[in-house]
Amino acid sequence: MRAEIISIGTELLLGEIIDTNAAWLAQQLAGIGVDVYFRTTVGDNVGRIASAIQIGTSRAEVVITTGGLGPTIDDMTREGIAQAVGVPLELNHELVEQIRARFAKWGRGMSENNVRQAYIPQGATPVENPVGTAPCFIVEHQGHSIFVLPGVPREMKHLTETRMLPWLREKMGDDAVILSKTLRTCAVGESLIDEKISDLELSSNPTVGLAAHPGQTDVRITAKAATRADAEKLIADMEARVRERLGDWIYGQGEETVEQVIARLLTAQNKTVAIAESNTLGKIAERLRATPEGLNVAAKLIRVNDDQVNDKHGEHIANTLRAQTGADIAIAIVSTMGEQDMYLADTGKTAIALSSASKTRSYTYPVGGMGELAQNWTAARALDILRRTLL
Ligand code: ATP
Ligand code: MG
Repeated sequence: MRAEIISIGTELLLGEIIDTNAAWLAQQLAGIGVDVYFRTTVGDNVGRIASAIQIGTSRAEVVITTGGLGPTIDDMTREGIAQAVGVPLELNHELVEQIRARFAKWGRGMSENNVRQAYIPQGATPVENPVGTAPCFIVEHQGHSIFVLPGVPREMKHLTETRMLPWLREKMGDDAVILSKTLRTCAVGESLIDEKISDLELSSNPTVGLAAHPGQTDVRITAKAATRADAEKLIADMEARVRERLGDWIYGQGEETVEQVIARLLTAQNKTVAIAESNTLGKIAERLRATPEGLNVAAKLIRVNDDQVNDKHGEHIANTLRAQTGADIAIAIVSTMGEQDMYLADTGKTAIALSSASKTRSYTYPVGGMGELAQNWTAARALDILRRTLL
């Protein structure tokens, strides 16, 4: 099944707000195995909205729109869609009552403007919006469907989860169960992972896709099958192949973060950790502390100033920190600031030292300075070194 996302709003075109709705919607659609080949942004203009809808329905079975359903005159989505499918707008009395009831609940009267929201294209199926006033609707037109969602992210998400996705799943047929599973890696570049599993990424069912985030790469396996058990089996087989290739690069799965895994390992081993950070400005500590066990496993989290540090490898700081705090493991991050190279990357170096009862080790990387890239990468690297020490 192919779907197209159309974001409606002049403020999106002007760059005044970022189209986070489309990104979120795209993720939800990918999650249930719907292909999205095009995403369009169009301003609040009836003719151009109609044209975007017509183009959308010409190349996808389902078009999903977000935005422009408000009560004001500049919200044109209703008119645009009616024009695209060649029907008039009609007052839907059921929707008028729903909107009236909502305002009554808030202790307010309904304005004439709000009645505008109850006009939907003739023949459209209204969808109640329990979290806002803008009603949604579905238009079926020449074998294509248009699902019209509001722009306010909270409302859009709620209606997607409770109405749009169940509707899409039903449309895709009972015999298509789509499941996906995400395996997570940390501190390994996307290209390295791609090298190891590029042949698996060509598989069509299940599909294997990579998603890179700062310091982290996810491997997502999605399977389509007649039954849940079949889909699970497809995923399990592919997962085994991916794991065989990537081994302990994979730290976890699903929504797990690397710091959660570390905090759990520390708790299970009854250990604490102390961290001294320089260029990462406490980011590592913050991530660990935010886990459910964070406060119990963090012995001390301090900040060191690079320019006061003589200890290039950080080993002395890590050892001292461990001795002073009584933590089982201490980590010190020491970064030197370099110059900007031709790629605007900092040419400095960062050392990550880890001190434990059995040994002290330091690793130096050719990334330095305070840039966001250096910070994220250093944090990912340090957490991964800690994770491997605990395994
Ligand atoms: P309402 O009934 O509240 O007026 P609406 O459907 O008319 O809803 P819009 O007026 O288009 O929605 O947008 C309302 C607000 O929602 C915008 O000011 C913006 O903050 C946010 N919003 C709209 N579209 C998007 C989008 N694509 N991505 C992120 N935020 C958005
Ligand atoms: Mg708007």
